[in-house]
Amino acid sequence: MIGRLIGSVCQRVPSSSYRGSLMMKPQVVFVLGGPGAGKGTQCSKIVENYSYTHLSAGDLLRAERAREGSEFGQLIANYIKEGKIVPVEITINLLKKAMEDTMDKDAKKFRFLIDGFPRNEDNLEGWNKVMEGAADVKFVLFFDCGNEVCINRCLERGKSSGRTDDNRESLEKRIQTYLQSTRPIIELYEKHGKVRTIDASRSVDEVFADVKAILDKED
Ligand code: UDP
Ligand code: MG
Repeated sequence: MIGRLIGSVCQRVPSSSYRGSLMMKPQVVFVLGGPGAGKGTQCSKIVENYSYTHLSAGDLLRAERAREGSEFGQLIANYIKEGKIVPVEITINLLKKAMEDTMDKDAKKFRFLIDGFPRNEDNLEGWNKVMEGAADVKFVLFFDCGNEVCINRCLERGKSSGRTDDNRESLEKRIQTYLQSTRPIIELYEKHGKVRTIDASRSVDEVFADVKAILDKED
């Protein structure tokens, strides 16, 4: 049941259970919003101003798609082009490894922006299964933006991004996936008072001013 998924996310266990008492438990902000809502752009600006590490699930999947010898390359390529959500077993391992690598290099880097995840129920279940007790989800930063604006931004980006999914056909599918699968996840967090919503249809600087106000209040 989808309603059960979030309660477990909120559970607290002592940070000492995370790889001995020496490491801080990762503190996570999930960054969600439609394709082209500006998640990546705003995450870059957050990283410039705050002590967060930005992990984009989409970027990690694209890197895995391109990695020589990856057994998942073709599968990931198909899912991305079709705007479908890759099975969580693949995504969660990439996220977990990226978090561990970051903290192994610098134990002080325990704050993460996880961008573009969790996108559906399967993603959230996978997160709970693997990360429950090992990371705290602080809140969801939700970049709220109308579909028309999102599509137009992605089409514009598509002129230079080289992305296989920044074309009208893929975009329509991505928007459908977002509305059908991702919105319910955002609503679920909303019910638990864990969503910070930002009107993302405005300019980068206007949106970032709101982001700052939120992060300054949370920190
Ligand atoms: N994707 C996925 N699982 C994730 C994140 C991304 O399957 O957790 C796939 C999915 O096919 C999605 C694509 O990667 O449509 C692009 O995701 P990205 O977050 O890069 O797109 P954005 O929303 O930033 O435009
Ligand atoms: Mg992105």
